Amino acid sequence: MIYLDANATEPLRPEARAALIAALDLPGNPASVHAAGRAARRVVETARESIAKGLGADPGLMVFTSGGTEANSMALHGIAPGRRRLVGATEHDAVRAASLAAETLPVVPTGALDLAALTQRLVQGTPALVAVMLANNETGVLNPIADIAAICHTHGALLHVDAVQTCGRLAMDMAALGADSLAISAHKLGGPKGVGALILAPGIDINPLMLGGGQERGRRGGTPSVAAIAGFSAAFIAANAAQTATAAHHVALRAHVLAQVIPAGAVLCGAGPTLPNTLCLALPGVSAEAQLIALDLAGVCVSSGAACSSGKVGRSHVLTAMGLEALAGSAIRVSLPWNVTASDVDNFLHAYRTLAARTRATRDLAPTL
Ligand code: PLP
Repeated sequence: MIYLDANATEPLRPEARAALIAALDLPGNPASVHAAGRAARRVVETARESIAKGLGADPGLMVFTSGGTEANSMALHGIAPGRRRLVGATEHDAVRAASLAAETLPVVPTGALDLAALTQRLVQGTPALVAVMLANNETGVLNPIADIAAICHTHGALLHVDAVQTCGRLAMDMAALGADSLAISAHKLGGPKGVGALILAPGIDINPLMLGGGQERGRRGGTPSVAAIAGFSAAFIAANAAQTATAAHHVALRAHVLAQVIPAGAVLCGAGPTLPNTLCLALPGVSAEAQLIALDLAGVCVSSGAACSSGKVGRSHVLTAMGLEALAGSAIRVSLPWNVTASDVDNFLHAYRTLAARTRATRDLAPTL
């Protein structure tokens, strides 16, 4: 099986597996005062310290969650609750569903946020909480978060950043980004599924989504998953250590893919600065579903960026927002995992070129049938 669906989830890193399994044997609850509790608490606090410091953040302002969805939800429900919400048009459903009454901020055709529209909205209304993602999960397009933060702060707004697809893939620093809160998720960087974090900037208050025993400094009730947190931290450290080399490997493979698929008829969706591992490729005239099935039969796992939890292929709100509705039904997402090999990519390319050639042949034959 050739796995090229890293943006759905990354394969577990061996360091994460080892840390997770070791922590499963800890009997204590991190809230207990006895030795077993203290040992579990040490694992959680060491992980908090490693991840927060790696992002230039204060460990005391980091809240472990059940993943990116909960971290986004917590921010959009819990930060500055009285303020209006402004949300980027290409945000993940985790953000869109948590801000149903929000105003939508348009993007420019490249896929990045329209900064002029953001400024105009902020000038017009009352103080806002703005939510903009660092990297888009379907196209990989990066937003200029430091510029967006500056615009937000100039106009008295707060900025929440969904950094789920970026953490572990590109160097990130909370202060340099200027974000007031940041959502991250372990399984997008080679850690276990079901754990993530919301990181707050100094001075940002949050109302908890989940009330309970006062865990996470009263910001999130519930016993944390010690083993998952241990795996998260190990994956984060491994991803960061390998980041420069992995990114360079991905940049080279991405260029190789593009050089082969564009002459085969593919159209790249999204432009400008992009995650090194992500390609959103439309094959006009061939439905995304047909491409996914053909590639799956060839042993290659990719996705349509808009696959929802039911497994159905929907029309991408991201491509639609970019003005690419004509391509939205024929685009697939190829996202390279941390352990991808050149031969994985070559096998994908062989399957893709075969699919594209078959489509061309069918089209050429069509008038004579
Ligand atoms: N935000 C983005 C940009 C994502 O791509 C995802 C997952 O696909 C999420 C949030 C949700 O993260 P999780 O799966 O950890 O809940």
